[in-house]
Amino acid sequence: MKNKIEVDIHTHTLLSGHAYGTVRENALAAKEIGLKGLGISEHAPGIPGTCDAMVFRNMPHSVPRDLYGVNIYFGVENNLLNDGTMTLTPKQMERLDYGIVGIHGFCYEDEGIEKNTDNLIKAISDPKTFFISHPDDGTWPLDYERLVKAARKLGVALELNNSHIVNPWRKNSIENMHTYLKLCMEHKTNIFVGSDAHDPSRVGRFEEALAMLEEMGFDEDLIVNNSEEKFREFIRYNKK
Ligand SMILES: [Zn+2]
Ligand SMILES: [Zn+2]
Repeated sequence: MKNKIEVDIHTHTLLSGHAYGTVRENALAAKEIGLKGLGISEHAPGIPGTCDAMVFRNMPHSVPRDLYGVNIYFGVENNLLNDGTMTLTPKQMERLDYGIVGIHGFCYEDEGIEKNTDNLIKAISDPKTFFISHPDDGTWPLDYERLVKAARKLGVALELNNSHIVNPWRKNSIENMHTYLKLCMEHKTNIFVGSDAHDPSRVGRFEEALAMLEEMGFDEDLIVNNSEEKFREFIRYNKK
């Protein structure tokens, strides 16, 4: 890969309840590994032990935009609900830079491939939800062709989640990643590479994901976060 990943947009801190670093420890780890930007995307309410919606309103005012020379971005990893809405509401996301939406078993029950896909497409129609986390877990099957086409149309990127490659115990994860990555190339849909770090030692770690992309000959132009500028444009950061 000629480009490295410049911004890790999917990371968790102590605020998520089952992650183990502070904001500053993650930022220091980001600096040490050479990232330009770090996105903080705590779990939204609905995941046991995570922070209150209040944090997503307050953090953008309280945490500096620059820590150790790393640009800090404020996000959320939201939860898809069975009616296609999300646990952190658009109003509660107002002050954030971006939303990521993912399917998590605590908040979602499988309704079959078509309805799961409808629900997720409804959620990514939210104007601040630019990303889908780990759509690889076959516990909640998705019609990837339909999802990838909708994501392209809505300006949303699908994640290649490095943690799910390192710990591939989820249902058909690796196979599903190959399926949607091929479709993303075919339909020119963007992806992002996420560490999904729950500990500072995992911030900015993408080796396995990058190896998979390399092996597939994935089009690097479609990767949103291999350039901080590209990432900013994707979330319309400069227009704020
Ligand atoms: Zn997740
Ligand atoms: Zn996560």
